[in-house]
Amino acid sequence: MSEFFTTLKGFEGKVLTPTTWGPDEVNTPMIRHWIQTMGDTNPIYLDDDAARATGRDGAVAPALMAQVWTMRTFTDKMANNDPSQVWTDLIATLDGAGFTSVVATDSDFEFFTELRTGDRVSLTEVIEDISEEKKTGLGTGHFVTTLKTYRNGNDETVATQRWRTLRFKPKGGEEAGSRGSEKPSAKDEKAGPIPGLRPRPALNADNAFWFEAAKEHRLVIQRCSNCGTLRHPTGPMCGQCRSLDWDTVDASGRGIVYSFVVNHHPRIPGFEYPLVVATIELEEGTRLIANMTGIAPGDVEIGMPVELDWIDADPDLTLPAFRPAVREDS
Ligand SMILES: [Zn+2]
Repeated sequence: MSEFFTTLKGFEGKVLTPTTWGPDEVNTPMIRHWIQTMGDTNPIYLDDDAARATGRDGAVAPALMAQVWTMRTFTDKMANNDPSQVWTDLIATLDGAGFTSVVATDSDFEFFTELRTGDRVSLTEVIEDISEEKKTGLGTGHFVTTLKTYRNGNDETVATQRWRTLRFKPKGGEEAGSRGSEKPSAKDEKAGPIPGLRPRPALNADNAFWFEAAKEHRLVIQRCSNCGTLRHPTGPMCGQCRSLDWDTVDASGRGIVYSFVVNHHPRIPGFEYPLVVATIELEEGTRLIANMTGIAPGDVEIGMPVELDWIDADPDLTLPAFRPAVREDS
């Protein structure tokens, strides 16, 4: 075993989250909210008789809520969001050996004991396993598996959750490290987008109109009908006056690059790399995230004027993009 791998193996069994009890006991109001949000109509979660008909002693909490009971409250999370020192050390060890990229590979939930109202739930998290070096399609790396164990007040295991990530050295590291004015090589341009469809947006009642307009090559901005404030991303309520009434205005399509990143890895089907992901500030004042067209990634600059373009990704998906503005004075 190499010295490096011995060091890695030394992390196995170390504790990431010491046993921590959830802030509230298992309770009906949270179960009711959860099943309504998830659309789960199984009656055994609220109706004791329905649960008894299935051989249980009474209503039980949905198994998948195990995680819910131990979630830190919002203010706790804001006050202390630092990763554990063990995790920080492990990642530093991997980074130091060149395993700088990460991709989540799988999550495996197992359920052992059902929860009922009044139960308390605790969470403990450890590093369970670090694999030997593996060759994968993304590059060479180590699989790191963490294990969360949820227990009830009788110290019975309620559920376990294994979460596996691959920490790897990206293939073609020289390209991943490219910076600045370097333009995409001829090879990149010839390569074109990675085959496959771009991810679908999660459409809902609050955003579908925006994507529908995009299909017609119209970039719209949501506007409060009461106070006139423009907003993006789309949403049901005005953040200024809380009105639920809204309409839209068509954007001029002019703006500037407010900020941007050039993404090299990981490479997702449907996109072309290196991929410019920019925050565009429209002249109307709202900002949106978009890709850029008609420019080498190394030539993008913060503050540069841009104008609207469109990416007709596939028959079901059209997205606004931005290209350098054609100067009117030259
Ligand atoms: Zn308003």
